[in-house]
Amino acid sequence: MAGKLNGKVAIITGASAGIGKASALALAAEGATIILTARRAERLEQLVNDIEKLGARAAIVVGDAREETTAVEAVKIALEFGGHIDILLNNAGMGIYKNLVDTNADEYDTMMDTNMRSGFLFTRHVVPQMIKQSSGTVLMLSSMAGVYGFAGEAVYCATKFAQVGFAQALDRELRPHGIKVGAICPGGVKTEFAIGTGRTEEGVAQSGMLEPEDVAGAVLLACTQSAGSRIIEIQMRTMAEAL
Ligand code: NAP
Repeated sequence: MAGKLNGKVAIITGASAGIGKASALALAAEGATIILTARRAERLEQLVNDIEKLGARAAIVVGDAREETTAVEAVKIALEFGGHIDILLNNAGMGIYKNLVDTNADEYDTMMDTNMRSGFLFTRHVVPQMIKQSSGTVLMLSSMAGVYGFAGEAVYCATKFAQVGFAQALDRELRPHGIKVGAICPGGVKTEFAIGTGRTEEGVAQSGMLEPEDVAGAVLLACTQSAGSRIIEIQMRTMAEAL
């Protein structure tokens, strides 16, 4: 298979659904080997089959992205598979859309840990390897909710702004090591995200939101820049947005 990512190894968190799954397929179609991680094993196993049908390789790490052991295991498997780690997509995430006065501390912790702590842990364990290599790309799957504040989403927005700040700081810290760090910031995407915690299935189906494959295209673009170029942030919104 001749692809833009032949020989590259990528770790993708939240790979069992939505944007993570679409990104795994997009990178695999360009020849990357993918380490897929999430909690739902069956979905990951099915995705390995789909990736192998594309002629690429994949392995799974089943676990909670909020736990340090999951990140450590993903790095170990990636190094066993390829001996190097070229791409980390910190995509695992969730949202509970509620007004501030209806949001409790457990919901705050769940959102912050799933969206930000997970990205910290995976990046913390991947970057030493990328420093050794003097190369790598780390992407935070943030949101337009990491660029603007939206009513009824204050805590979710805080988690997504945190991801953008983390990426901006690491861009400066890690560029001397040849490592590119960026944030992908889509508006609403048609996935299972937040269904039952703020969105409805019908609402998402009928919306003019982005498709997960649109976002995967942006992820692929950020992962396939020429050596001298880096993408710091991509903001995306649907063409169906009201004027
Ligand atoms: P999705 O279809 O619900 O997928 C979320 C993924 O995250 C799943 O693979 C899920 O896997 C994983 N995940 C959630 N909690 C996890 C945990 N504790 N440990 C491990 N994995 C966990 O949602 P999506 O829309 O693709 O969202 C992906 C990212 O895009 C999120 O960071 C989200 O904030 C961001 N985003 C979404 C939208 C949107 O409108 N959909 C817009 C902008 C940004 P398991 O359940 O199998 O663990």
